[in-house]
Amino acid sequence: MSARILRMSTLFARTLRDDPADAEVPSHKLLVRAGYVRRAAPGIYTWLPLGLRVLRNVEGIIREEMDAMGAQELQFPALLPREPYEATNRWAEYGDNIFRIKDRKGADYLLGPTHEEMFTLTVKDLYSSYKDLPVWLYQIQNKYRDEARPRAGVLRGREFVMKDSYSFDTTDAGLDASYAAHRAAYIKTFDRLGFDYVIVQATAGAMGGSKSEEFLARSAVGEDTFVQCDACGYAANVEAVTVPAPAALSYDGAPAAHAEQTPDTPTIETLVDHLNATFPREDRPWRAGDTLKNVLLVLKHPDGTREPVAIGLPGDREVDQKRLEGQLEPIEVEAMDEAEFAKHPALVKGYIGPGVLGEESASGIRYLLDPRVVEGTRWVTGADVAGQHVLDLVAGRDFTADGTIEAAEVRDGDACPRCAGAEDGRLVSARGIEMGHIFQLGRMYAEALDLKVLDENGKLVTVTMGSYGIGVSRAVAAIAEGNHDELGLCWPAEIAPADVHLVAAGKDEALFAAAETLAEELRAAGLDVIYDDRRGKVSPGVKFKDAELMGVPTIVVVGKGLADGVVEVKDRRTGDRADVPLAAVVAQLKG
Ligand code: ATP
Ligand code: MG
Repeated sequence: MSARILRMSTLFARTLRDDPADAEVPSHKLLVRAGYVRRAAPGIYTWLPLGLRVLRNVEGIIREEMDAMGAQELQFPALLPREPYEATNRWAEYGDNIFRIKDRKGADYLLGPTHEEMFTLTVKDLYSSYKDLPVWLYQIQNKYRDEARPRAGVLRGREFVMKDSYSFDTTDAGLDASYAAHRAAYIKTFDRLGFDYVIVQATAGAMGGSKSEEFLARSAVGEDTFVQCDACGYAANVEAVTVPAPAALSYDGAPAAHAEQTPDTPTIETLVDHLNATFPREDRPWRAGDTLKNVLLVLKHPDGTREPVAIGLPGDREVDQKRLEGQLEPIEVEAMDEAEFAKHPALVKGYIGPGVLGEESASGIRYLLDPRVVEGTRWVTGADVAGQHVLDLVAGRDFTADGTIEAAEVRDGDACPRCAGAEDGRLVSARGIEMGHIFQLGRMYAEALDLKVLDENGKLVTVTMGSYGIGVSRAVAAIAEGNHDELGLCWPAEIAPADVHLVAAGKDEALFAAAETLAEELRAAGLDVIYDDRRGKVSPGVKFKDAELMGVPTIVVVGKGLADGVVEVKDRRTGDRADVPLAAVVAQLKG
């Protein structure tokens, strides 16, 4: 596309000096203040001309890399019929998270949250032989999810732009190759977008399937927590961390369990204090980790069913709700409220023990244990009587559960699940923004929608699929999050809405004429220019502030120096400035 000049006198934008009241994270504040986006409804945003340029630049990089890997672009509608989503059960599984619509005849539709079904059906429609495969297809399109917590502007929207691609293969080895090709293209893409990112193991969530990794941009405002091992390079979203279960311990000679009076000890802290005061250990003081805490939760299934569940975990750990939901998706998790609690008379608040938990127990509540609670471990836990706890309760001997679950928070310093025992690495956590997610879906969608092709031997085989997403609009916010200072945005060159922000700083007509000529020369040299040609009351100070806020990489000021034949060239990011002869400026900026 040929280069353009955007004139500030007519640009459809209004910069704001103050942060919008609803914005908490820097990218959201700055994208609104600098005139890139405007809120249309909660989690739904309008892209103004400057913002749209940035969005298109991000799209352009993603498109180039997808095309370069050999994927073909197409476009599905966003408005989709119910039936295919019924066939894969996602019409139900998405629950409140999708927008559902009826047409005039009463038929059900949805606004697409992701498009596995449609791609699968279209490949089925057009292809029937192994010779047609592999095929890699993608689109860049608006997606709709009725997010429970839309947040941070375009970072988590209810309407957002996603690049989604899908691979179709006949063999597992083919899927591995398609996955690897996408992974390599994503690395190129995220390098070009300028992210400081990590590739982490992920859970597959509502998509199903097996192997899955996420590309997370490191950022304090990210909603995902990931861990990295300080020894072996293991990296995983905390949702996907599996705690290495210790070996079972022998409990020969362990004392029998005994209930003790522990008045006023409904919390772990009060219990530990009481134990140390009344039942001191010989080897060391009691610690929170010696107690078994039983947490009551409610699982909300997509069909509306509410299932109570109890989770037993060491008393020094909290349940991490996000980690739990990441594994149980599409089920959502809630704390058990008073009303629900009251329905189970066997439960004594603050003193709940394994004795009343489990499908076969008095409460009938499913009981799941943290993997650390292995056979032979010895615990202090509730005696199911107010003011009493049981000591020396041995797992496997005195109680069992209905299964195990990864619900406990993962903490810095925890043992690495991969190199535990070998290099004994420790986990270090940080936060990130999920920018991309790649999955090996396998055959579940092809099975549900009956996508089969003939193989070399003329036999029908079910196709195996991969699904690969990038948050395009989210990337704009994430790039802004990683590229700003106290004055405003600082776009990387490939993303910026223009190459040069040219400011006419003065009143003279001669100065405006020189700036106008320079703008035209820069454009002719192939550079996109924002030209601040505003006259009258707009002071140079206001123009400089706007230029800094908008964040184009190079700011050129045509001002006082013009008398000496120079203009000021300023690097937005470093703040470095230099006087450059007017005659040399185009060549310098082009280089
Ligand atoms: P999240 O965990 O952040 O909700 P997700 O795992 O549900 O995301 P995917 O279904 O993997 O998302 O979608 C692919 C990509 O689309 C994500 O990696 C993310 O970059 C982007 N994305 C997902 N939801 C949103 C949203 N609400 N707003 C903006 N981008 C999103
Ligand atoms: Mg994801």
